[in-house]
Amino acid sequence: MTRTPLTTSLDAYEVWFLTGSQGLYGGDTLRQVAEQSRVIAETLDGSSDVPVRLVWKPVLTDSAAIKRVALEANADDRVIGVTAWMHTFSPAKMWIAGLDALQKPLAHLHTQANVELPWGEIDFDFMNLNQAAHGDREFGYIQTRLGVPRKTIVGHASDPRVQSELGTWQRAAAGLAASRNLKLARFGDNMRYVAVTEGDKTEAELRFGVQVNTWGVNELADAVHATADADIDALVAEYEELYDVVPSLRTGGDRHESLRYGAAIELGLRSFLEEGGFGAFTTSFEDLGALKQLPGLAVQRLMAEGYGFGAEGDWKTAVLVRIANVMGAGLPGGASLMEDYTYDLTPGDELILGAHMLEVSPSLTTSRPSLEVHPLGIGGKDDPVRLVFTADPGPAVVVALSDMRDRFRLTANVVENVEPRHPLPNLPVGRAVWKPAPDFRTSAAAWLTAGAAHHTVMSTAVGVDVFRDFAEMAKTELLVIDEQTTLPDFQREVRWNQAYFRLAQGL
Ligand code: MN
Repeated sequence: MTRTPLTTSLDAYEVWFLTGSQGLYGGDTLRQVAEQSRVIAETLDGSSDVPVRLVWKPVLTDSAAIKRVALEANADDRVIGVTAWMHTFSPAKMWIAGLDALQKPLAHLHTQANVELPWGEIDFDFMNLNQAAHGDREFGYIQTRLGVPRKTIVGHASDPRVQSELGTWQRAAAGLAASRNLKLARFGDNMRYVAVTEGDKTEAELRFGVQVNTWGVNELADAVHATADADIDALVAEYEELYDVVPSLRTGGDRHESLRYGAAIELGLRSFLEEGGFGAFTTSFEDLGALKQLPGLAVQRLMAEGYGFGAEGDWKTAVLVRIANVMGAGLPGGASLMEDYTYDLTPGDELILGAHMLEVSPSLTTSRPSLEVHPLGIGGKDDPVRLVFTADPGPAVVVALSDMRDRFRLTANVVENVEPRHPLPNLPVGRAVWKPAPDFRTSAAAWLTAGAAHHTVMSTAVGVDVFRDFAEMAKTELLVIDEQTTLPDFQREVRWNQAYFRLAQGL
């Protein structure tokens, strides 16, 4: 069977750089427009903050050409979005058909060729050539009139803030492209009786493009049990190289067979996912069929490689983990399933301890995890192997996806991972300890008001801005809890959003 290894890099992607003008200016001016827009595209493309290749396209001067380039962008799998800049005045009715046809994310780049005005030399030729200040206002009008979701980026191409905003938007567009191509395998259904992990899989395919389907867990178990001994030997050797494997699990140790079984799960899971072209998956501890352990180590390692994962059948969080992995490609840090587990309620210095039964990605740490085996109180299976570590201190964001009946809602909390206040010698799982913004009480009350889930993706690679851009392009509600949040404002926003998102839905 053909196996498709998962790709998480941004290297194959392109963003097209479109420049608007019109025929009225004549050949000389249009040559200058082309020249200058090329320089701007090259300046942005050369920035280390702009991770996706920016491809300059010839200047657009009429509606037929604009529509054609939009259709070409739609049809080209490499293209994850387009930027548009009206160097001169590009009468915006020329953009109606093209914008209406465009199905890829759009960034409106509001810039100009020069930084300073040439005060002493400025004449009307200069004014004619450099009029994005009103050309882009004409373009803003038509985008708003057509209701086109987009990001507006303002400033000179050499400004690091402009480069970083473009890079952030590109990462969000890469996340959307990944979710539009995502196939997600569920092994078993949701944990019984749990509400928030449920959701409308049909709506998810329309909104995010992800295909969510279920396979019997024994198909996975068959793949696990068909694994060759030599492959298990090699993988166990890799574990012993990469991790501090506890003595009982090492070769010759009395629990070594548990580690070999953990390796078989990883090999079987990987072959199943690669054969099906899956980029995300879920498991359910209540439905493990012939599997002898709940997958822990394997899930942790696959998440760190870029796979999406949700526990207890939680496919919505699995989607978030996958897109966060793609959005953060090439950056330090990582993305993981996370669960708000328990608190330190020391007044004024509250902390959240997040973890899961097993499945936290080691991409959250730069230290060497310990590979251990411990009993699991629920599930009634053999003791599972797992990596144990603490997430690095530093900025992070946790994001949840809830199904609100008539739409999806993303809720994000900006947090700061911190060192645990004391060692955690008896906690046998990967974990993170964080302080939520703006403060614990506001964060928790806002989160509960939003009806946001207990499962999240934690990203230490990208921040909340990427999720803002993603939500805009996916036309999905996003509630942000950050330093600016106050509870009364947040409650009002939730109430107003309820009306807005219903009104914005059409018939
Ligand atoms: Mn859970």
